[in-house]
Amino acid sequence: MPAAKAVPKTSSRPSAKAEAARVQEIFDRFAAKDDHPRTELNYSSPFTLLVAVALSAQATDVSVNKATASLFPDADTPARMAALGVEGLMPYIQSIGLYRTKARNVIATANILLDRYGGQVPLDREALMALPGVGRKTASVVLNELDIEPAIAVDTHVFRVAHRLKIADGATPDKVEAQLMAVVPGPYLTRAHHWLILHGRYTCVARRPKCEQCIVADLCPSRELFIGG
Ligand code: SF4
Repeated sequence: MPAAKAVPKTSSRPSAKAEAARVQEIFDRFAAKDDHPRTELNYSSPFTLLVAVALSAQATDVSVNKATASLFPDADTPARMAALGVEGLMPYIQSIGLYRTKARNVIATANILLDRYGGQVPLDREALMALPGVGRKTASVVLNELDIEPAIAVDTHVFRVAHRLKIADGATPDKVEAQLMAVVPGPYLTRAHHWLILHGRYTCVARRPKCEQCIVADLCPSRELFIGG
């Protein structure tokens, strides 16, 4: 495990400076481990990314990838998706939670993309969030994944890891997102979402976090709660 960098002690605001150094070091280590983190959802275009992210609400990436492995060869564009229709789409995604609602939203979105955007996905937040079933989190994931707008969508993993590392303490995902956007070093803003998700998915898991394997354990105020527990 890399050693923590020394934090300078001479400062008119030492605690703020030390905290900034701690956060910087946390993300330096994530970057050293994986410089190009990406979503684990499979996609090949902005449209298939949008569909995959929309399907992933309250579902695992693994289950979505399983469904889209059959779906996307048959419907990887708004025109082909719209041609399936709701009834045609449902069999592909019926293993995913809320599939009826998601099928209606995906088909409605495909039709809107055809009618208003020439079959393209509009890559700005306001237009994305106007699409059926596309909320702030889905829009953030799409825009961030495509390197269009830095965003840190806060799901259960990001929320938990941010709280345990004490880099955010907001009571809601929106508050945690705002706090993270304020403290994560600028060069890391587009990748922080993925690092925090992957850290929460594989290391800082909900019930028994793997603190012994954690690359930022010496920077984590919550470590003592779990080690030896
Ligand atoms: S030390 Fe433990 S609680 Fe802290 S971030 Fe690492 S895995 Fe999570």
